Amino acid sequence: MTTVEMGIPTVRSSVSLSGRPDVAHLVDRFGRVARDLRVSITEKCSLRCTYCMPEEGLPTIPAERLLNPGEIVRLVELAVTRLGVREVRFTGGEPLMRADLERIIAGCAEKVPGTPLAMTTNAVGLEHRVRRLADAGLSRINVSLDTVDRGHFASLTRRDRLPSVLAGIRAAVAIGMAPVKINAVLMPETLSGAADLLQWCLDEGVELRFIEQMPLDADHEWARENMVPADRLLSVLGKHFELEELGRDDRVAPAELWRVNGGPATVGIIASVTRSFCADCDRTRLTAEGTIRSCLFSDSEVDLRGAMRSGADDEQLAQLWRGAMWNKWVGNGIDTVDFAPPARSMGAIGG
Ligand code: SAM
Ligand code: SF4
Repeated sequence: MTTVEMGIPTVRSSVSLSGRPDVAHLVDRFGRVARDLRVSITEKCSLRCTYCMPEEGLPTIPAERLLNPGEIVRLVELAVTRLGVREVRFTGGEPLMRADLERIIAGCAEKVPGTPLAMTTNAVGLEHRVRRLADAGLSRINVSLDTVDRGHFASLTRRDRLPSVLAGIRAAVAIGMAPVKINAVLMPETLSGAADLLQWCLDEGVELRFIEQMPLDADHEWARENMVPADRLLSVLGKHFELEELGRDDRVAPAELWRVNGGPATVGIIASVTRSFCADCDRTRLTAEGTIRSCLFSDSEVDLRGAMRSGADDEQLAQLWRGAMWNKWVGNGIDTVDFAPPARSMGAIGG
């Protein structure tokens, strides 16, 4: 086995396939099948959310180590056509930081027509690009927005960009992008504004989902006793709204849903820490440097970029990918005594 030290996690260029059944898709030792691909395309970001990035941003990835548009399109195509991936989501860092985002999306849309192409974004500057992105083939959008209080937003993200984010969300709704979903990470400092955020989302016709904060911040300051659990959020929202528990949309959807004030609007909660859904996880991740990561919390990665640039054909790349997923951990281990946060933060993996 070759290991390459990149100053980040252990990167392997060969993987163990012992015991793996001879199937085309991305199955693991516990019977899970990965069908949802997250593609990080950059480490750069226009915000510095405290639960994700260090104040100075992530170390720059040299251009030659980043996947180029042709490489991204090739890997997305083989994931869909050979490995059974059914949805592709671009993330980062902030995907809008890449000037060639429209080209990447258009290239994927051409190669995998009919496969939903989604993006998770902070929406800074989205207003000016959403039409071109939709024309390129982007079909769904999730925007991260934790508060509609400008002061709280500025201190949480270390940037005073709330007006641009709200304009981006409204522009996405205005061009008919559907659904537009909002992701909000639950933090103690924004909990008091959770009801205002939900009311704003109801008024704007966008779906809100709260996410429990995971130990994936670059500063390694996460502490279980400081995080806001789903139950606490529900008791806060319950004082302002009538909530009816609906459960999950489908088995692999991490959000549990509540009908708000008799419906039709719902609010979701992704209780990644207190109600971990690892047993149903269907994700596979491609980092901006072209490594496969089977779990957010496992630092072991398999290098497809190196293999690709050394001349590997599509089936060889697919086999490396299958091997990476076969070795996926059973769970994130957050509750175990020897849990240690991964070397990469959320922004460096791709959320
Ligand atoms: N910049 C884009 C954005 O913010 O939507 C995409 C990348 S961001 C890393 C993807 C998602 O990860 C966002 O919804 C963000 O809120 C979430 N995230 C970041 N750090 C997190 C953490 N420590 N726990 C839970 N979610 C986190
Ligand atoms: Fe940037 Fe998204 Fe991380 Fe916030 S959550 S710092 S917007 S990558």
